[in-house]
Amino acid sequence: MKGIYFDGAKAVFRDDLKKPVPGLNESLIRILMSAVCNTDKEILKGYKPGFTGIMGHEFVGIVEESDDESLVGKRVVGELNAGCGHCIYCQTGREKHCPDRKVIGLEKKDGCFAEYMTMETHLLHVVPWDLPTELAIFTEPLAAALEIASQVHLKPETNCAIIGDGRLAFLIAQVVAMTGIDLTVIGHHEEKLEQFRPYASVTLEPQESYEVVIEASGSK
Ligand SMILES: [Zn+2]
Ligand SMILES: [Zn+2]
Repeated sequence: MKGIYFDGAKAVFRDDLKKPVPGLNESLIRILMSAVCNTDKEILKGYKPGFTGIMGHEFVGIVEESDDESLVGKRVVGELNAGCGHCIYCQTGREKHCPDRKVIGLEKKDGCFAEYMTMETHLLHVVPWDLPTELAIFTEPLAAALEIASQVHLKPETNCAIIGDGRLAFLIAQVVAMTGIDLTVIGHHEEKLEQFRPYASVTLEPQESYEVVIEASGSK
């Protein structure tokens, strides 16, 4: 099988990878589309020392084999984190924080930059038939953006700023704007900032202070 493999130092294209075999409670997924996340670029700079394997965690695929028959043939996306299932985090619905978790394409688990991957079946989500693959591919970064609203109560009268005008900031702005909040996006690039105008006011140089600030520039 073809895939992009991180050998500990660089990403290597390989055509000699073994097609994975699903383990207990896992499904085999044929990858239709994968997306490159900034995290993938960070891996190349040494973000995950110790990780070697197939890269990638943003994907849309078709389930070819599964312990859940009803999923076979369905188009799916999936969650990154697979917990151990036994620790206090896993047993209290916080699998994402399991200290012993596997993270696809990042830690102890091969990712989706390949023709096939396996994943724990309970981490899969069926894509609605009318949602194109080209949009469904944004599920994982969009989920990260939605996480903000589940961590902080954004009231409409709150004055909020997003720092950054990149792709993740663009998803976050669309999510946060749904709350009806007073939103400003602070960026460096005039052309990029223009695209935020339907959702926020934009500025190159912030003049006021903000009650809630969302850092999405990725810069120190
Ligand atoms: Zn990602
Ligand atoms: Zn656990």
